[in-house]
Amino acid sequence: MRAKSWHGATKSSTQRGYGYAWQKARAEYLQEHPYCVFCLRDAGITATTVPEIILACARRGIPAPLAQVVDHRIPHRGDPVLFWDRKLWQGLCAPHHNGEKQQIEKGGRVSPRIGLDGFPIEADAPERGDGG
Ligand SMILES: [Zn+2]
Repeated sequence: MRAKSWHGATKSSTQRGYGYAWQKARAEYLQEHPYCVFCLRDAGITATTVPEIILACARRGIPAPLAQVVDHRIPHRGDPVLFWDRKLWQGLCAPHHNGEKQQIEKGGRVSPRIGLDGFPIEADAPERGDGG
């Protein structure tokens, strides 16, 4: 007995198509901007290029803080123009992305939890990528 329900499609199929382009874009962005901007700021490092950041960290004797998440500096709330504007992106480490950034956003409006892939985490959608 087949339980094929044509109307039972979840919106994750849309997200998946969108998600692939985003995975590619964020991987490229993290190659060009590999460090957490909040960690650098906390360390008092104002360098913006990769070699300068590596040198500045070496001088301070700290490891260069790798970013794991591409964050949207302005909450895009689904607006594709804001979403894809790389000038509005920043690399963050996971602790900063999950901590400070959410506190900032809590001050303004309620925002959904954001997963490491940059998509909101929905409580009723436990689906996860395998990190492929
Ligand atoms: Zn950080």
